[in-house]
Amino acid sequence: MVANELVGSENGPSQEAGKLQEVLKAEDVPKRVGNGKLHKLPRAIWLGIGVRVKVKIVTPAFMKTVSPGGHELDGLWDEANQLIYVDKTLTLEEQWETLRHELLHAIIDIDHLERP
Ligand SMILES: [Zn+2]
Repeated sequence: MVANELVGSENGPSQEAGKLQEVLKAEDVPKRVGNGKLHKLPRAIWLGIGVRVKVKIVTPAFMKTVSPGGHELDGLWDEANQLIYVDKTLTLEEQWETLRHELLHAIIDIDHLERP
């Protein structure tokens, strides 16, 4: 459907289709490094001016010590310390998904703090 929108532009359809493939490919792998492997998680992420959320990759045993109720969690947002914990035994892909999920908690909490 997106390809249809490209018909009638300066370049021929096949050339545009090739460009589209390049765009789709690039969007599909935003966090991969040159060799095609997933990039490791960042150590910290800025969520605005002066708001730096740290990212710590930890063992499941450590996760239990910091999670409320001692649960085995894939990830945890620690609001008091502005810190996200991610289980190191997850695949890198799962770690990225977990980070995104915890960032969602972080964004909501921080936004509520800044705008009561
Ligand atoms: Zn959650």
